[in-house]
Amino acid sequence: MSDIDVSGRLKDKVAIVCGAGQTPGPTVGNGKAMALLFARAGASVICVDRDLERAEATVGAVREEGGDALALAADVSKPDDAQNIANVALETFGRIDVLVNNVGIGGGGDGPPKHITEEAFDRIMNVNLKAAMLVTKACLPIMETGGNGSIINISSLASIAGANMLAYEVSKAGMNRLTVSTALSMAKKGVRCNAILPGLMDTPMAIVGISERLGVEPDELRAQRAARVPMGHMGTGWDTAHAALFLASDEAKFITGVCLSVDGGQGARTG
Ligand code: NAD
Repeated sequence: MSDIDVSGRLKDKVAIVCGAGQTPGPTVGNGKAMALLFARAGASVICVDRDLERAEATVGAVREEGGDALALAADVSKPDDAQNIANVALETFGRIDVLVNNVGIGGGGDGPPKHITEEAFDRIMNVNLKAAMLVTKACLPIMETGGNGSIINISSLASIAGANMLAYEVSKAGMNRLTVSTALSMAKKGVRCNAILPGLMDTPMAIVGISERLGVEPDELRAQRAARVPMGHMGTGWDTAHAALFLASDEAKFITGVCLSVDGGQGARTG
């Protein structure tokens, strides 16, 4: 739970959060935290997820707090679904101010070059990188017409400091460059684009998913991950969401093309 008062910081803005559902578990995911925080800040939030029930769960949580949100089912790696996200935003709200590309997957055949499967490489690149390009391409004309917009790509510290997850790392490194390239191409049009590189976060995707995969107890995994962070503890979905809120807001109106680590200092440690 984040109890920082953010009211009014995204007043009257329309935000799309792709991957706004979350892996079930006891803590909040990055996408769900962003949807909740953006709504608390005054935005209307389109919560997109491949799994409609997950998107609806986030919308329910937003509405419970008095916020405005709607759920939309879409597989962001499919061009028609990506275009439909932009169409629904335009038909429902007439504008898009903020787009978050938060969908990200890993596992399932990913690994070091010697072991990775071709199927895993293609699947992870499609869902993590190509999908972000597709949704960005679909939404940009609407954002450009509005003359103002903020795109936030949820990359990962693994894009610059990962190991043994070739497809995940390469897809997120591609996302960093997608961010810079989009930022430069849109700089004169009023649309900004930045990336967030979360480090080790205590989200269900990371803890529940990875502890099951490795056969390690969740609390043991938490302790192992915390020990790797200079600040001595993991981050949460709220840490990602607060960074995203800043980049989404007009407070960041002169910031574009930045890849911002949210990692407790992990990326700063070299050697
Ligand atoms: P999550 O898995 O809980 O939520 C992601 C949501 O995306 C899920 O609800 C899932 O159903 C949805 N999704 C998956 N494929 C989709 C598709 N093709 N189309 C539409 N929706 C799809 O994850 P999260 O905690 O919200 O984290 C999300 C992002 O943060 C990912 O990009 C991940 O790589 C990044 N990240 C997380 C950590 C961490 O430690 N949790 C660290 C670094 C980066």
